[in-house]
Amino acid sequence: MTSDPAIRELLRLDAHHVWHPYGPMPATVAPLLVEEASGVRLRLADGRQLIDGMSSWWAAIHGYRHPVLDAALAEQAGRMSHVMFGGLTHEPAIRLAKALVELTPDGLEHVFLCDSGSVSVEVALKMCLQYWRSTGRPGKTRMLTWRGGYHGDTFHPMSVCDPEGGMHSLWRGVLPEQVFVQAPPPGFDAPLDESYADVLARTVEEHADELAAVVVEPVVQGAGGMRFHNPGYLRLLREITRANDVLLVFDEIATGFGRTGAFFAAEHAGVTPDVLCVGKALTGGYLTMAATLCTTEVAEGISRGEVPVLAHGPTFMGNPLASAVANASIGLLADGTWRDDVRRIERTLREGLAPAADVEGVVDVRVLGGIGVVQLDHAVDMAAATEALTSRGVWLRPFRDLIYTMPPYIMSDADLAVVAEAMVAAAEVS
Ligand code: PMP
Repeated sequence: MTSDPAIRELLRLDAHHVWHPYGPMPATVAPLLVEEASGVRLRLADGRQLIDGMSSWWAAIHGYRHPVLDAALAEQAGRMSHVMFGGLTHEPAIRLAKALVELTPDGLEHVFLCDSGSVSVEVALKMCLQYWRSTGRPGKTRMLTWRGGYHGDTFHPMSVCDPEGGMHSLWRGVLPEQVFVQAPPPGFDAPLDESYADVLARTVEEHADELAAVVVEPVVQGAGGMRFHNPGYLRLLREITRANDVLLVFDEIATGFGRTGAFFAAEHAGVTPDVLCVGKALTGGYLTMAATLCTTEVAEGISRGEVPVLAHGPTFMGNPLASAVANASIGLLADGTWRDDVRRIERTLREGLAPAADVEGVVDVRVLGGIGVVQLDHAVDMAAATEALTSRGVWLRPFRDLIYTMPPYIMSDADLAVVAEAMVAAAEVS
């Protein structure tokens, strides 16, 4: 704890007035006070610098204060920060929609620009419900999803989050009741499990009359457990959903924009979903923006309805600042160097995390693209792990039994080695 009275006062106010994610009020653990962030480093008010291995929760893929993103933001701020999107439009949003249609799997043609990942999932679920209402099958109202998933904290997305994750017990009786199937067997390279495939197919078939959509995170289940699976299950889901008149929604809010080594995780499977959600890294982590894309079939289906419009319209829809930065961020990805960077991160993390496999209590060490995970057979000792990490100059946020990183793509090999070493040390003290 710092002795600087100004910092102590700010932290006292924070603890007393400011909610943090999943935090108690008043707060019981003081957060770190950040004054500046630049490149891959956070500079704390007490003068310490930490290497950010979290990319601010998958978002800051180019690091902080990137000159191109800073310039795009300043340039757009000089023209127009925000205008309502009802009845008005603007070039940054139009350009962004065009770029997203070009970059996402073929067939996704229509883009809803919204203000957070959770809202983009809300919109995706609404699209599916409205599609079936508009096309004469109003009984198709439920969602099928994998256990261990995470899709956001607003109500409809919470209903498709892991039912063991705490939210379902807190909100029992209030959340829509969805259909859950075990998550695929773990391992990106694990062979397809025929009996699991049968269970998946049978469950969709059994519920087909009431299912609006299957909603999943492709290839990586993130906040629900950092699990990887064989992309073949996505191809399977595409076949099963098609055969049973059920829509398929991919939530690529965490996996999008290169994180798994493909631009979108769906590409590992060569599959186009009916609806796709993106967010987080969309603006390189600068501003809050997400998007929901859908096929022409979904859009036309909705337009055939008694209410022929998509019933959603947030105030900050298509925000010009966020759109301009998103365009600049996508521009930075255009030359494909992200692919080399993610491969390099994968290699360096594999090497750096290998010693974790010998640490007592570690049950799995896994790396895919720009994601590295050390899993324990017990809950991480948060105080000891945080001390082990920050004393080595690293910012990570372990949760449950997991110590994990998804660094900015620009992180050097030397900094990656420091992050990996700190993760091994955090596992040792946990
Ligand atoms: N879906 C996934 C897969 C996510 O990882 C998240 C955020 N962790 C969300 C949805 C919700 O996004 P947001 O926090 O921007 O509302």
